[in-house]
Amino acid sequence: MKKEDCIFCRIAGGEIPSKTLYEDEKFRVILDLGPATRGHALILPKEHYADLYELPEDTAAEAMRLAKKMAGIMAGKLHADGFNLVQNNGEAAGQTVMHFHLHLIPRYKNDGQHILWKPQTVSQEELEEIQKQITE
Ligand code: 5GP
Ligand code: ZN
Repeated sequence: MKKEDCIFCRIAGGEIPSKTLYEDEKFRVILDLGPATRGHALILPKEHYADLYELPEDTAAEAMRLAKKMAGIMAGKLHADGFNLVQNNGEAAGQTVMHFHLHLIPRYKNDGQHILWKPQTVSQEELEEIQKQITE
């Protein structure tokens, strides 16, 4: 299903032009318009899934296979020093477009970007409690 008011549905479907790096029946890979670094790209499924929770398992597997292929090509061609895969789900996690997408972010020495978090401290008891909460 496509969603009429979804910008990424319209871009993935070719209705809105984009700088496309790759396209097949299920995906389009485009350059991000607000890039973190040179070459920042997005993998978009052509079907509308709001986020990772809605994404079918086989599509998730295909998206990761495509990410690996694109990362190899992009890192080589752009002479990147590193590479981040980023995928946000929900407003609290920084998702701004509610159509699943996987960020492909080439990294360069001293590119001034930070895809990092501030490590917190945690006790063994807390770790155990969290482990139980998730696994039981
Ligand atoms: P999110 O924050 O949802 O994980 O990422 C959304 C990304 O989509 C942002 O990096 C933003 O720059 C990019 N973006 C938003 N609108 C457009 C658009 O119309 N075209 C392109 N190419 N990228 C977009
Ligand atoms: Zn959509």
